[in-house]
Amino acid sequence: MICPRCKSDMVVVEHNKIELDYCTRCQGVWFDSGELELLLESMSLESPNLVLGDIRDSEEAESSEKKLRCPICSQKMKKTAIGQQREILIDVCRLGDGLWFDGGELGQLIKQMANEPLGKPDSQHQIIAFLGEVFKARD
Ligand SMILES: [Zn+2]
Ligand SMILES: [Zn+2]
Repeated sequence: MICPRCKSDMVVVEHNKIELDYCTRCQGVWFDSGELELLLESMSLESPNLVLGDIRDSEEAESSEKKLRCPICSQKMKKTAIGQQREILIDVCRLGDGLWFDGGELGQLIKQMANEPLGKPDSQHQIIAFLGEVFKARD
């Protein structure tokens, strides 16, 4: 798959049987919605479809950042804000192909997670915790 940010070829990274596409040049990560679903299921969440729908239907964030095109359907993706203060913008395919995290965004999220007192983990946290694990495993 081609990186939506810098157009390099991405590599497939496998962790706990979940595959992600990772760009070694800009450190961005692409998550197929099918893989995200698998991940949520493996965490025994009751309704992975609800979570995916949540992310997909969430409000479009105002941003001057360049809109990226989905690596699967080539349509422009929607920016959505996540994180504690909703300060991190990720890109989501409007047709539901998947999610894109820029390299820096992922690091920012993982750092937030590390500083957070352990509460009831929600699905967003679980995804980020998983990603933290994947990239720790790669270092
Ligand atoms: Zn890239
Ligand atoms: Zn798409």
